[in-house]
Amino acid sequence: NKYIVIKAKIDGKPQESDFEFKTETLSLPINPVSNDIIVKNLCISIDPYQINRMKTVSASQETSEFAAGISPGEVIVAFGVGKVVASHNPKFEKGDYVVGHISWGEYSISQGFILNKLDPMGFPLSYHVGILGLAGLTAYAGFFEVCKPKKGEKVFVSAACGSVGNLVGQYAKNFGCYVVGCAGSAKKVKLLKEKLGFDEAFNYKEETDLNLTLKRYFPDGIDIYFDNVGGEMLEAAISTMNLHGRVALCGIISEYTNAGKRAAPDMLSVMYKSITIQGFLVGNYLHLFPEFLKLTIDHLRTGKMHVLEDVSFGLESVPSAFVGLFRGDNVGKRCVQVSQD
Ligand code: NDP
Repeated sequence: NKYIVIKAKIDGKPQESDFEFKTETLSLPINPVSNDIIVKNLCISIDPYQINRMKTVSASQETSEFAAGISPGEVIVAFGVGKVVASHNPKFEKGDYVVGHISWGEYSISQGFILNKLDPMGFPLSYHVGILGLAGLTAYAGFFEVCKPKKGEKVFVSAACGSVGNLVGQYAKNFGCYVVGCAGSAKKVKLLKEKLGFDEAFNYKEETDLNLTLKRYFPDGIDIYFDNVGGEMLEAAISTMNLHGRVALCGIISEYTNAGKRAAPDMLSVMYKSITIQGFLVGNYLHLFPEFLKLTIDHLRTGKMHVLEDVSFGLESVPSAFVGLFRGDNVGKRCVQVSQD
Protein backbone atom coordinates (compact mmCIF):
# COMPACT_ATOMS: atom_id res chain seq x y z
CA ASN A 1 0.00 0.00 0.00
CA LYS A 2 1.37 3.37 -1.05
CA TYR A 3 0.30 6.30 1.17
CA ILE A 4 1.12 9.93 1.83
CA VAL A 5 2.37 11.59 5.03
CA ILE A 6 3.53 15.04 6.10
CA LYS A 7 7.27 15.28 6.73
CA ALA A 8 6.84 17.83 9.53
CA LYS A 9 4.12 20.14 10.85
CA ILE A 10 3.32 22.72 8.17
CA ASP A 11 3.83 26.40 8.87
CA GLY A 12 2.22 28.78 6.36
CA LYS A 13 1.01 27.84 2.88
CA PRO A 14 1.48 24.14 2.11
CA GLN A 15 3.98 23.09 -0.58
CA GLU A 16 4.22 19.78 -2.42
CA SER A 17 7.60 19.25 -0.77
CA ASP A 18 5.85 19.10 2.64
CA PHE A 19 4.61 15.60 1.72
CA GLU A 20 6.25 12.25 1.05
CA PHE A 21 5.12 8.81 -0.11
CA LYS A 22 5.56 5.67 1.98
CA THR A 23 4.78 2.01 1.35
CA GLU A 24 3.65 -0.76 3.68
CA THR A 25 2.32 -4.30 3.39
CA LEU A 26 -1.31 -4.64 4.42
CA SER A 27 -2.75 -7.75 5.99
CA LEU A 28 -5.87 -8.33 8.02
CA PRO A 29 -5.54 -9.68 11.58
CA ILE A 30 -6.49 -13.38 11.80
CA ASN A 31 -8.79 -12.65 14.73
CA PRO A 32 -12.26 -12.53 13.14
CA VAL A 33 -13.69 -10.29 15.90
CA SER A 34 -11.21 -7.51 15.09
CA ASN A 35 -13.83 -5.60 13.02
CA ASP A 36 -11.05 -4.60 10.64
CA ILE A 37 -11.77 -3.92 7.00
CA ILE A 38 -9.52 -3.09 4.08
CA VAL A 39 -10.90 -0.54 1.63
CA LYS A 40 -9.50 0.16 -1.82
CA ASN A 41 -9.63 3.96 -2.09
CA LEU A 42 -11.38 5.12 -5.25
CA CYS A 43 -12.11 8.83 -4.87
CA ILE A 44 -10.44 11.04 -2.27
CA SER A 45 -12.06 14.35 -1.35
CA ILE A 46 -9.50 17.18 -1.23
CA ASP A 47 -10.50 19.55 1.57
CA PRO A 48 -9.04 22.81 2.92
CA TYR A 49 -9.73 21.93 6.60
CA GLN A 50 -6.93 19.34 6.47
CA ILE A 51 -4.36 22.14 6.73
CA ASN A 52 -5.65 22.91 10.22
CA ARG A 53 -4.76 19.34 11.19
CA MET A 54 -1.32 19.57 9.61
CA LYS A 55 -0.18 22.75 11.35
CA THR A 56 0.52 23.36 15.00
CA VAL A 57 -2.64 24.66 16.66
CA SER A 58 -3.36 25.92 20.15
CA ALA A 59 -4.86 23.53 22.68
CA SER A 60 -8.20 25.37 22.53
CA GLN A 61 -8.41 24.74 18.78
CA GLU A 62 -7.82 20.99 19.20
CA THR A 63 -11.39 20.55 20.35
CA SER A 64 -13.05 18.95 17.36
CA GLU A 65 -12.36 15.89 15.34
CA PHE A 66 -11.87 18.21 12.39
CA ALA A 67 -8.96 19.92 14.12
CA ALA A 68 -7.38 16.79 15.64
CA GLY A 69 -3.75 16.94 14.66
CA ILE A 70 -1.99 14.75 12.12
CA SER A 71 1.55 13.85 13.19
CA PRO A 72 4.44 13.63 10.74
CA GLY A 73 4.69 10.11 9.32
CA GLU A 74 1.11 9.23 10.26
CA VAL A 75 -1.61 8.05 7.83
CA ILE A 76 -3.75 11.02 6.77
CA VAL A 77 -7.41 10.21 7.26
CA ALA A 78 -9.66 11.91 4.70
CA PHE A 79 -13.20 11.73 3.35
CA GLY A 80 -13.80 9.71 0.25
CA VAL A 81 -15.38 6.77 -1.50
CA GLY A 82 -13.87 3.29 -1.65
CA LYS A 83 -14.65 -0.37 -2.12
CA VAL A 84 -14.28 -3.06 0.54
CA VAL A 85 -11.71 -5.66 -0.52
CA ALA A 86 -11.58 -7.66 2.74
CA SER A 87 -13.72 -7.54 5.88
CA HIS A 88 -13.83 -8.95 9.39
CA ASN A 89 -16.64 -6.52 10.14
CA PRO A 90 -20.28 -7.67 10.11
CA LYS A 91 -21.36 -4.23 8.83
CA PHE A 92 -19.44 -4.60 5.56
CA GLU A 93 -18.96 -7.22 2.87
CA LYS A 94 -16.32 -7.56 0.23
CA GLY A 95 -17.45 -5.58 -2.82
CA ASP A 96 -19.46 -2.95 -0.88
CA TYR A 97 -18.99 0.66 -1.90
CA VAL A 98 -18.37 2.81 1.19
CA VAL A 99 -18.26 6.55 1.88
CA GLY A 100 -16.67 8.31 4.85
CA HIS A 101 -13.25 8.15 6.45
CA ILE A 102 -10.69 6.62 4.13
CA SER A 103 -7.12 7.93 3.74
CA TRP A 104 -4.55 9.53 1.45
CA GLY A 105 -3.39 6.18 0.15
CA GLU A 106 -4.18 3.36 -2.24
CA TYR A 107 -5.87 1.39 0.55
CA SER A 108 -7.30 2.20 3.98
CA ILE A 109 -7.45 -0.13 6.92
CA SER A 110 -10.00 0.73 9.57
CA GLN A 111 -12.63 -0.62 11.91
CA GLY A 112 -15.34 1.04 9.88
CA PHE A 113 -15.91 4.09 12.10
CA ILE A 114 -17.33 7.11 10.24
CA LEU A 115 -17.79 4.86 7.23
CA ASN A 116 -21.09 3.88 5.67
CA LYS A 117 -22.22 1.67 2.84
CA LEU A 118 -22.89 3.68 -0.28
CA ASP A 119 -25.45 3.12 -2.99
CA PRO A 120 -24.05 5.17 -5.89
CA MET A 121 -27.59 5.28 -7.41
CA GLY A 122 -26.09 5.40 -10.89
CA PHE A 123 -24.20 8.66 -10.24
CA PRO A 124 -20.42 8.96 -10.67
CA LEU A 125 -18.58 8.19 -7.42
CA SER A 126 -17.14 11.71 -7.36
CA TYR A 127 -20.67 13.14 -6.87
CA HIS A 128 -20.76 11.37 -3.50
CA VAL A 129 -17.94 13.52 -2.13
CA GLY A 130 -19.31 16.63 -3.85
CA ILE A 131 -22.83 17.63 -4.78
CA LEU A 132 -24.42 14.51 -3.21
CA GLY A 133 -21.93 14.22 -0.36
CA LEU A 134 -20.54 16.29 2.50
CA ALA A 135 -19.84 19.34 0.33
CA GLY A 136 -23.48 19.40 -0.73
CA LEU A 137 -24.75 18.86 2.79
CA THR A 138 -22.51 21.68 4.05
CA ALA A 139 -24.03 24.05 1.50
CA TYR A 140 -27.58 22.83 2.18
CA ALA A 141 -27.40 22.90 5.99
CA GLY A 142 -25.42 26.13 6.07
CA PHE A 143 -27.80 27.94 3.78
CA PHE A 144 -31.20 26.60 4.86
CA GLU A 145 -30.62 25.88 8.57
CA VAL A 146 -27.99 28.42 9.57
CA CYS A 147 -28.93 31.34 7.29
CA LYS A 148 -32.70 30.80 7.55
CA PRO A 149 -33.36 32.50 4.20
CA LYS A 150 -36.52 34.22 3.05
CA LYS A 151 -37.44 34.54 -0.61
CA GLY A 152 -36.12 37.73 -2.17
CA GLU A 153 -33.33 38.20 0.35
CA LYS A 154 -29.92 39.35 -0.85
CA VAL A 155 -27.21 36.73 -0.47
CA PHE A 156 -23.45 37.10 -0.77
CA VAL A 157 -21.20 34.01 -1.13
CA SER A 158 -17.38 33.99 -1.02
CA ALA A 159 -15.18 31.32 -2.68
CA ALA A 160 -18.32 31.06 -4.80
CA CYS A 161 -16.75 28.92 -7.50
CA GLY A 162 -15.48 26.41 -4.95
CA SER A 163 -17.01 23.16 -3.88
CA VAL A 164 -19.37 24.46 -1.19
CA GLY A 165 -19.78 28.02 -2.53
CA ASN A 166 -21.12 27.12 -5.96
CA LEU A 167 -23.78 24.92 -4.39
CA VAL A 168 -24.81 27.59 -1.88
CA GLY A 169 -25.36 30.00 -4.77
CA GLN A 170 -27.37 27.46 -6.71
CA TYR A 171 -29.60 26.60 -3.72
CA ALA A 172 -30.10 30.29 -3.04
CA LYS A 173 -31.07 31.06 -6.66
CA ASN A 174 -33.48 28.12 -6.84
CA PHE A 175 -35.00 29.25 -3.54
CA GLY A 176 -35.67 32.72 -4.92
CA CYS A 177 -32.89 34.93 -3.53
CA TYR A 178 -30.73 37.56 -5.23
CA VAL A 179 -27.21 36.09 -5.28
CA VAL A 180 -23.79 37.63 -5.75
CA GLY A 181 -20.60 35.57 -5.57
CA CYS A 182 -16.94 36.47 -5.44
CA ALA A 183 -14.10 34.33 -6.79
CA GLY A 184 -10.45 34.69 -7.69
CA SER A 185 -10.38 34.73 -11.51
CA ALA A 186 -12.22 36.05 -14.56
CA LYS A 187 -12.89 32.48 -15.71
CA LYS A 188 -14.65 31.70 -12.41
CA VAL A 189 -16.68 34.92 -12.54
CA LYS A 190 -17.89 34.06 -16.04
CA LEU A 191 -18.87 30.55 -14.95
CA LEU A 192 -20.84 31.85 -11.98
CA LYS A 193 -22.86 34.25 -14.12
CA GLU A 194 -23.23 32.24 -17.30
CA LYS A 195 -23.49 28.64 -16.14
CA LEU A 196 -24.61 28.69 -12.52
CA GLY A 197 -27.14 31.52 -12.73
CA PHE A 198 -25.66 33.91 -10.14
CA ASP A 199 -27.16 37.39 -10.57
CA GLU A 200 -23.72 38.98 -10.28
CA ALA A 201 -20.16 37.91 -9.58
CA PHE A 202 -16.83 39.68 -9.23
CA ASN A 203 -13.11 38.91 -9.01
CA TYR A 204 -12.11 40.02 -5.51
CA LYS A 205 -8.43 40.07 -6.52
CA GLU A 206 -9.12 43.03 -8.82
CA GLU A 207 -10.90 45.13 -6.18
CA THR A 208 -9.04 47.70 -4.13
CA ASP A 209 -11.72 48.64 -1.59
CA LEU A 210 -13.98 45.72 -0.66
CA ASN A 211 -16.39 47.98 1.25
CA LEU A 212 -17.04 50.00 -1.90
CA THR A 213 -17.25 46.84 -4.01
CA LEU A 214 -19.93 45.30 -1.82
CA LYS A 215 -21.88 48.57 -1.69
CA ARG A 216 -21.81 48.58 -5.50
CA TYR A 217 -23.30 45.07 -5.73
CA PHE A 218 -25.62 45.50 -2.74
CA PRO A 219 -26.89 49.10 -2.77
CA ASP A 220 -29.68 47.97 -0.39
CA GLY A 221 -27.36 45.90 1.83
CA ILE A 222 -26.67 42.19 2.35
CA ASP A 223 -29.17 40.03 4.24
CA ILE A 224 -27.13 36.82 4.24
CA TYR A 225 -23.40 36.28 3.98
CA PHE A 226 -22.20 32.70 3.46
CA ASP A 227 -18.56 32.99 4.47
CA ASN A 228 -15.95 30.55 3.18
CA VAL A 229 -12.93 32.81 3.51
CA GLY A 230 -12.93 35.04 6.64
CA GLY A 231 -10.37 37.89 6.72
CA GLU A 232 -11.02 41.19 4.99
CA MET A 233 -14.04 39.90 3.06
CA LEU A 234 -15.80 39.10 6.33
CA GLU A 235 -15.06 42.58 7.64
CA ALA A 236 -16.46 44.20 4.48
CA ALA A 237 -19.54 41.98 4.46
CA ILE A 238 -20.33 42.87 8.10
CA SER A 239 -20.11 46.56 7.28
CA THR A 240 -22.57 46.10 4.37
CA MET A 241 -25.10 43.96 6.21
CA ASN A 242 -28.67 44.90 6.89
CA LEU A 243 -30.53 44.91 10.19
CA HIS A 244 -30.92 41.29 11.41
CA GLY A 245 -28.40 40.09 8.84
CA ARG A 246 -27.05 36.58 9.18
CA VAL A 247 -23.54 35.30 8.61
CA ALA A 248 -22.96 31.56 8.23
CA LEU A 249 -19.32 31.05 9.16
CA CYS A 250 -18.57 27.96 7.11
CA GLY A 251 -14.86 28.45 6.65
CA ILE A 252 -12.08 31.04 6.91
CA ILE A 253 -9.57 29.72 4.37
CA SER A 254 -7.73 33.06 4.12
CA GLU A 255 -6.77 32.62 7.78
CA TYR A 256 -5.89 28.89 7.78
CA THR A 257 -2.32 29.27 6.59
CA ASN A 258 -1.45 32.25 8.80
CA ALA A 259 -0.62 34.08 5.56
CA GLY A 260 -3.76 36.23 5.57
CA LYS A 261 -5.05 38.92 7.92
CA ARG A 262 -7.29 37.79 10.77
CA ALA A 263 -10.79 39.21 10.53
CA ALA A 264 -11.52 41.99 12.97
CA PRO A 265 -15.14 42.77 12.13
CA ASP A 266 -16.71 45.98 13.36
CA MET A 267 -18.48 44.59 16.41
CA LEU A 268 -20.37 47.84 16.99
CA SER A 269 -22.12 47.19 13.65
CA VAL A 270 -22.82 43.62 14.72
CA MET A 271 -24.47 44.94 17.87
CA TYR A 272 -26.37 47.89 16.35
CA LYS A 273 -27.63 45.88 13.39
CA SER A 274 -28.42 42.78 15.50
CA ILE A 275 -26.36 40.64 13.16
CA THR A 276 -26.09 36.91 13.87
CA ILE A 277 -22.71 35.32 13.14
CA GLN A 278 -22.99 31.56 13.44
CA GLY A 279 -20.17 29.10 12.96
CA PHE A 280 -21.19 25.57 12.09
CA LEU A 281 -19.81 22.14 11.24
CA VAL A 282 -21.50 19.87 8.74
CA GLY A 283 -21.05 16.95 11.13
CA ASN A 284 -23.76 18.44 13.32
CA TYR A 285 -26.32 18.32 10.49
CA LEU A 286 -26.10 14.71 9.35
CA HIS A 287 -29.76 14.25 10.28
CA LEU A 288 -30.63 16.48 7.30
CA PHE A 289 -28.98 14.07 4.85
CA PRO A 290 -32.20 12.42 3.55
CA GLU A 291 -34.01 15.72 2.83
CA PHE A 292 -30.83 17.21 1.35
CA LEU A 293 -30.37 14.23 -0.96
CA LYS A 294 -33.99 14.30 -2.09
CA LEU A 295 -33.97 17.99 -3.02
CA THR A 296 -30.54 17.85 -4.64
CA ILE A 297 -31.25 14.79 -6.79
CA ASP A 298 -34.53 16.40 -7.79
CA HIS A 299 -32.72 19.63 -8.79
CA LEU A 300 -30.10 17.62 -10.69
CA ARG A 301 -32.67 15.60 -12.61
CA THR A 302 -34.71 18.67 -13.53
CA GLY A 303 -31.63 20.62 -14.60
CA LYS A 304 -32.02 23.20 -11.80
CA MET A 305 -28.53 22.44 -10.46
CA HIS A 306 -25.27 21.89 -12.30
CA VAL A 307 -22.27 19.86 -11.22
CA LEU A 308 -18.98 21.69 -10.98
CA GLU A 309 -16.13 19.34 -10.21
CA ASP A 310 -12.41 19.26 -10.60
CA VAL A 311 -11.10 15.71 -10.72
CA SER A 312 -7.46 14.69 -11.03
CA PHE A 313 -6.16 11.17 -11.40
CA GLY A 314 -3.73 9.00 -9.45
CA LEU A 315 -2.52 9.08 -5.85
CA GLU A 316 0.58 11.01 -6.98
CA SER A 317 -1.61 14.03 -7.73
CA VAL A 318 -3.00 14.34 -4.17
CA PRO A 319 -0.32 16.72 -2.78
CA SER A 320 -0.53 19.10 -5.75
CA ALA A 321 -4.35 18.97 -5.70
CA PHE A 322 -4.31 19.90 -2.01
CA VAL A 323 -1.69 22.63 -2.27
CA GLY A 324 -3.58 24.15 -5.23
CA LEU A 325 -6.68 24.80 -3.09
CA PHE A 326 -4.77 27.59 -1.35
CA ARG A 327 -3.92 29.21 -4.69
CA GLY A 328 -7.50 28.95 -5.97
CA ASP A 329 -6.55 26.47 -8.71
CA ASN A 330 -9.73 24.44 -8.36
CA VAL A 331 -12.99 25.10 -10.13
CA GLY A 332 -15.71 23.37 -8.11
CA LYS A 333 -15.33 20.25 -5.99
CA ARG A 334 -11.76 19.04 -6.01
CA CYS A 335 -11.16 15.31 -5.68
CA VAL A 336 -8.65 12.72 -6.81
CA GLN A 337 -9.67 9.50 -8.49
CA VAL A 338 -7.12 7.05 -7.14
CA SER A 339 -8.45 4.02 -8.94
CA GLN A 340 -11.25 3.22 -11.41
CA ASP A 341 -12.87 0.43 -9.38
P1 NDP B 1 -13.16 25.31 -2.21
O1 NDP B 1 -13.52 24.34 -3.28
O2 NDP B 1 -13.95 26.57 -2.10
O3 NDP B 1 -11.61 25.65 -2.39
C1 NDP B 1 -11.01 26.67 -1.70
C2 NDP B 1 -11.16 28.01 -2.47
O4 NDP B 1 -10.92 29.06 -1.55
C3 NDP B 1 -10.14 28.21 -3.57
O5 NDP B 1 -10.53 27.63 -4.78
C4 NDP B 1 -10.01 29.72 -3.64
O6 NDP B 1 -10.93 30.24 -4.58
C5 NDP B 1 -10.42 30.18 -2.24
N1 NDP B 1 -9.26 30.72 -1.52
C6 NDP B 1 -8.08 30.12 -1.28
N2 NDP B 1 -7.27 30.93 -0.57
C7 NDP B 1 -7.97 32.07 -0.37
C8 NDP B 1 -7.68 33.31 0.29
N3 NDP B 1 -6.50 33.53 0.90
N4 NDP B 1 -8.63 34.27 0.29
C9 NDP B 1 -9.81 34.07 -0.32
N5 NDP B 1 -10.15 32.94 -0.95
C10 NDP B 1 -9.24 31.95 -0.97
O7 NDP B 1 -13.18 24.59 -0.82
P2 NDP B 1 -14.47 23.99 -0.10
O8 NDP B 1 -15.69 24.38 -0.83
O9 NDP B 1 -14.22 22.57 0.16
O10 NDP B 1 -14.46 24.76 1.29
C11 NDP B 1 -14.83 26.12 1.35
C12 NDP B 1 -14.71 26.58 2.80
O11 NDP B 1 -15.66 25.88 3.58
C13 NDP B 1 -13.33 26.29 3.39
O12 NDP B 1 -13.00 27.37 4.25
C14 NDP B 1 -13.57 25.02 4.17
O13 NDP B 1 -12.65 24.84 5.22
C15 NDP B 1 -14.99 25.22 4.64
N6 NDP B 1 -15.74 24.00 4.94
C16 NDP B 1 -16.42 23.97 6.11
C17 NDP B 1 -17.21 22.91 6.44
C18 NDP B 1 -17.97 22.97 7.72
O14 NDP B 1 -18.53 21.95 8.15
N7 NDP B 1 -18.06 24.14 8.35
C19 NDP B 1 -17.32 21.73 5.57
C20 NDP B 1 -16.63 21.88 4.30
C21 NDP B 1 -15.85 22.99 4.02
P3 NDP B 1 -10.77 31.72 -5.23
O15 NDP B 1 -10.32 31.48 -6.64
O16 NDP B 1 -12.12 32.28 -5.13
O17 NDP B 1 -9.73 32.46 -4.43
